[in-house]
Amino acid sequence: MSFRYGKHDSRKPKVLKRRDIPSLAKYIKSERCKNVFFMIGAGISTSAGIPDFRSPKTGLYANLARLNLPHPEAVFEIGFFRRNPVPFYTLAHELYPGKFRPTLSHSFIRLIAEKGLLHTCYTQNIDTLERRAGVPEDKIIEAHGSFATQRCIDCRKPFDDALMKEHIMAKKIAKCPHCSGYVKPDIVFFGEGLPPHFINSLNSLLDADLLIIMGTSLTVHPFASLAEIPPQSCPRVLINMEPVGDIGDNPDDLLLLGQCDQIVEELCKELGWHDDLQRLWADTEGSVISDTQPEEGKEKEGAAKKDSAEDKGNVDDALAEAEARLAALVVAEKEVLGEKDTKAEENPTTSTSTVAPGVVVEEKPATTSSPSTTPSQATPEEASKKEVAEKEQKL
Ligand SMILES: [Zn+2]
Repeated sequence: MSFRYGKHDSRKPKVLKRRDIPSLAKYIKSERCKNVFFMIGAGISTSAGIPDFRSPKTGLYANLARLNLPHPEAVFEIGFFRRNPVPFYTLAHELYPGKFRPTLSHSFIRLIAEKGLLHTCYTQNIDTLERRAGVPEDKIIEAHGSFATQRCIDCRKPFDDALMKEHIMAKKIAKCPHCSGYVKPDIVFFGEGLPPHFINSLNSLLDADLLIIMGTSLTVHPFASLAEIPPQSCPRVLINMEPVGDIGDNPDDLLLLGQCDQIVEELCKELGWHDDLQRLWADTEGSVISDTQPEEGKEKEGAAKKDSAEDKGNVDDALAEAEARLAALVVAEKEVLGEKDTKAEENPTTSTSTVAPGVVVEEKPATTSSPSTTPSQATPEEASKKEVAEKEQKL
């Protein structure tokens, strides 16, 4: 068996016959189960090659720490972004929708939708893999926002989707054509409110017939507290590597511990929906887009195909690549940022930057950095590291 059952409350279940996969499958196919809700987190995207944000060794936070952030979370802090958007854009480039293929678990959510059972899929992920798997957009609530839209952090005016994509793919910092403020995807940063439609939707959980929680540690609030809203009569199923929160304490809680994709397959076999699942997943095969640079696109395709959850080499490659990109971006960004900062001190409310509004920061390879800032003996790599450090000091 590719999964194990977790520790359950000793009381007899009331809705499920037993706390096992066959009973769950039977319940899903019954008349009683009409409104299925999902709560999903980073754990369902790790097999797509996207590292878990919070995992200390391979997590994105750990990787970003090496990009000379004061602390990894700073990449999602609006104050830091305002001073230095480079680390976030570096991350955005890594995560940009289309570079990773949805997993079987994502396709399972679409399958539940096709069976007419999906009410809402709450996701903490910003990778938009639910959309790419074909889950209907109106059924998805991205609790922490997504890359789907973006706006200026100063005047709040929306910024064009296609132009944003161009910038992120080309590793350029997007600036507002109206006020030259930096443009940020509508991803919820620390200290920012959750999207209003998230808050407004919470009452619907009172009608839940089944809550499936996949790949989340249930530690980030208020997202985690969604699991408390459904009535006692709603079975809560946890599909995760380990037990989380209080799932298992209600008589109809079911803990399925192991790899999300494998458990989803087991469940679909039991439901007689295994072929449907495979068909929907096959649909996602062509959804991975290549990068703007052909060689890099090839690498990325390879990376997406690899099951890199445990593949440290792959994470290291990605990190090395991200570091190289950061170094290159810092060189380019330095001039523009330096100019903006000086001007901002003179007049903080009006941008008087001589850079024309909407003009992008062109990326330059690290090797072309100015001789005045690069000691002639230093290798390009050392030089760019030094520049990062200098930049950090300035901040
Ligand atoms: Zn603006």
